[in-house]
Amino acid sequence: MNKTKNILRDSHGRDHTYLRISLIERCNLRCSYCMPEEGVQLSPKSHLMTYEEIYDIAKLFVKHGVTKIRLTGGEPLVRKDIPVILEKLATLPVELSITSNAVIIDKFIDILKATGVNKVNISLDSLDKDKFKHITRRDQFEKVYKNIFLLVKEGFKVKVNAVLIKGFNDNEIIDFINFTKDLPISVRFIEFMPFDGNKWDMSKMVSYKEVMDAVNASSFPTDHIERLQDAPNDTSKNYKIKGYKGSFAIISSVTNPFCDSCNRLRLTANGQLKNCLFSSTESDLLSTFRAGNAIEPVIEKAVNAKLKMRGGMDTLEKLQEPKLHNNNRSMITIGG
Ligand code: SAM
Ligand code: SF4
Repeated sequence: MNKTKNILRDSHGRDHTYLRISLIERCNLRCSYCMPEEGVQLSPKSHLMTYEEIYDIAKLFVKHGVTKIRLTGGEPLVRKDIPVILEKLATLPVELSITSNAVIIDKFIDILKATGVNKVNISLDSLDKDKFKHITRRDQFEKVYKNIFLLVKEGFKVKVNAVLIKGFNDNEIIDFINFTKDLPISVRFIEFMPFDGNKWDMSKMVSYKEVMDAVNASSFPTDHIERLQDAPNDTSKNYKIKGYKGSFAIISSVTNPFCDSCNRLRLTANGQLKNCLFSSTESDLLSTFRAGNAIEPVIEKAVNAKLKMRGGMDTLEKLQEPKLHNNNRSMITIGG
């Protein structure tokens, strides 16, 4: 019998079962590490995937083995037709989840529940209202903070993503961990990563080691700091403080990348397939799809061309080369 070729397996043997779809390039916040101050060149509306195209393309990925879809952006909830996108994708046999800044998520509780989304990742970089305003350039701390409690109360599994920046919020590591004392959430500290226009430099990044140094130097007794079992393909190293309801984790894409077990592909709002968060190349699925041609050969070629590590930036020296890391989109148009 002829075995069907797995077009989502790359030349390093990695199977890609997780698709992240960016729905929109716009956002209701302006996080400085994500969106350049001067904004980004937005695609004309006609170049963005319609909800029908998102569904049809996602369906093909599912046919070829994708089991997990995460919606992201920009801010996915700002997209007007988000309810219908959720409804359509919920008909596919996948685990559907969303990453949001939570500013307006209280208006979407029912539709998220109705479409089976029970895992939500929320961005929150500071527990201090003024710092939140500084980093997001918007005064929305209270809404986000309240909505995290609301999501937990409504039964969602919540992860809170905090990008750590030296001298800005690295003094909040322990406050964030204490936030998990009575709240069953996972706070994930993300190493600040370089993308086009985000003024990254290595000295602003807080590493996995520095987070753990802060934890070990804190007043938590050593035998109360528990290392948890990470899930397969997990990008984070997970910990918990004994007796706390929640947990914390570190995503160390800079100092400790997890490329060996990477199972992710990314589809941008304008229908470009990125085989890696850091890739400098993209494959135009949408034009191929609109021309009525099969997109599988384009997907297969893109997946097969995936480089072993961080889009070819396989050393810290290469990652620090502006010529290399700026040869990519701004994060706001990738989706994380
Ligand atoms: N607007 C949504 C949100 O903020 O959750 C979804 C899109 S956002 C681009 C997805 C994730 O990317 C967020 O958790 C954000 O913190 C993270 N992110 C953005 N820029 C980053 C950077 N330079 N380094 C590390 N993480 C970054
Ligand atoms: Fe918007 Fe999310 Fe980027 Fe912040 S991290 S600017 S909320 S897309």
